[in-house]
Amino acid sequence: MRHEKLKQQVTERIESQSEEMVSFLGDMIDKETVIGNERPGQEVVVDKFESMGLEPDVWSPDVEKLREHEAFFETQPYQEAGYDDRPNVVATVEGAGDGPTLTLSGHMDVVPVTESEWEHEPFEMEREGDTLYGRGTGDMKGGIAAYVHAIECLRDLDVELEGDLYLQSTLEEEDGGIGGVLATLIYGYQPDGAIIPEPFGVPNLGMASAGVRYFRITVEGKSAHVGRGYLGENALDKAMKVYEALRELDAVRKERIDYEPAYRLEPRMRGHETNLNIGMIQAANWPAIIPGEVIMTGRLGWPPGEEPEEVMAELTATLEAAAEGDEWLEEHPPELEFFGLQADPHEVDPNEPLLQTAMENAEWVTGREGVFYGGSAGNDTRHYKRYYDIPATSVGPEATDIHGADENVTVDSLLETAKTIACTTIDYCGVVDD
Ligand SMILES: [Zn+2]
Repeated sequence: MRHEKLKQQVTERIESQSEEMVSFLGDMIDKETVIGNERPGQEVVVDKFESMGLEPDVWSPDVEKLREHEAFFETQPYQEAGYDDRPNVVATVEGAGDGPTLTLSGHMDVVPVTESEWEHEPFEMEREGDTLYGRGTGDMKGGIAAYVHAIECLRDLDVELEGDLYLQSTLEEEDGGIGGVLATLIYGYQPDGAIIPEPFGVPNLGMASAGVRYFRITVEGKSAHVGRGYLGENALDKAMKVYEALRELDAVRKERIDYEPAYRLEPRMRGHETNLNIGMIQAANWPAIIPGEVIMTGRLGWPPGEEPEEVMAELTATLEAAAEGDEWLEEHPPELEFFGLQADPHEVDPNEPLLQTAMENAEWVTGREGVFYGGSAGNDTRHYKRYYDIPATSVGPEATDIHGADENVTVDSLLETAKTIACTTIDYCGVVDD
C-alpha cells in the first residue's frame, strides 16, 4: 500500500471527526431539494466550502450552450423551472504541482416522496443508532457529505496534493444530469478522472450505466357509441396487438442480451439487463365510448453494448411488423415518438488506473473484497466517459430503500466511503513531500 502511514492518519481523522460529517449531512437533508428545487441545498454546500477556506464557483447553466451538445435534451425540471435560479457549485482545491486532476461530484436533487409511506421524516434527518434516515441520505447527499468530509480531513492535516481537485454539487441527475454534471464539463471543469459517490456500496464500485429512452406510441381507431359499435374501430383492440408485439420484443431482447457486470452482485438481475416497459395506457374517457385513440407510454432500458440508434430502430421495426396483415393498422400505422429522458449507456475499463486505485483502497479500508459492477440503471458517470473519454467510477455508501420510503444509510458506510475517497485522492493526485 502506497502512502500507508499518511492514509492511517487520514482515516483515523475521518473516523474521529465523524460527527461533523453527520451534521453537514443533516443540514442538507433538512432542505427539501426535490429535483428542480436544488438551490436551498446548494446554499448549504456553499457555506460548507467557505468554512473550509474555499471559494466556490456558483453558476447557473447556460441552456444555449447546452443545446449545442450531442447529449442535450430538455429535462422536465428545466421545462418547469428553467435554470436561472438553479446553480451548480464547484470549488477548486489547487494542487501544488501538476499531478492528475480529479473531480468529486455529487448531485443535490432528490426524487419526491410519498409522505404517507414514511415512518420517519423525509426532510428532517433522524438517527437511530448507526442509521440515518431521510430522503437523500443514500442517493446521494450522503455521498456528498462523505467526499466533503474526506477532503476536509485532508486539509485539516495539511496534506498538499500535486493535482487539482474539483469539488462539485450538481443539479438534476435524476432526470439525466444535463444541467448538472454535463453542464460542469461544458463549462470547463474537465478533469483527468472523476469519482461520483452514488450508493454502489463500497468496496463495490461502479463501472457502467444503462441506456434509457422514454417513448410514446399512439394507436389510432375510430370512436363511436358502444351501442353502435359497427360504426367504430376499437383503438384498444389494435393497441393490444401492438402491445403483444412489444412483449415479444422484450422477451427476444432479454434472451439475446447478456451483460454480466449488471448481475455480478445480484443474480436475480440476470436475464433482466434490458427491459421494455409500458407504464401508462390511455384510452377513451367514458365507459360507453369505443376508444378512438390509445396512447401507450413506456421506457426502454439497456446495458452497454448497443448504440441508441440500433435500439430505437429495433423498436420502430417491431411496430411496423405489428401492423402488417392488419388492414386497419396498415392504413393507420402506430406512431412512435421518443420524448424526455435520453441517457446513452457507458462502460469504463476496470483496468483504468483510477478504478484500480479506487478498488485497492476500498478493499484496504473495508477489509472486504469488492467487485466492479453496473449497467442496469443510468447515472451521471456516463457524461465523463462517453462524451469526454474521462475515466469515472462510482464510490459510494451502501444505502437502503433509495427512491423508496424510509431511505437510509449507515454512518459506518459513509465513513468507509469517505476513507476510500480520501485514500484514492492521495494516490491519484499525488502528494507533495513524498
Ligand atoms: Zn443518485
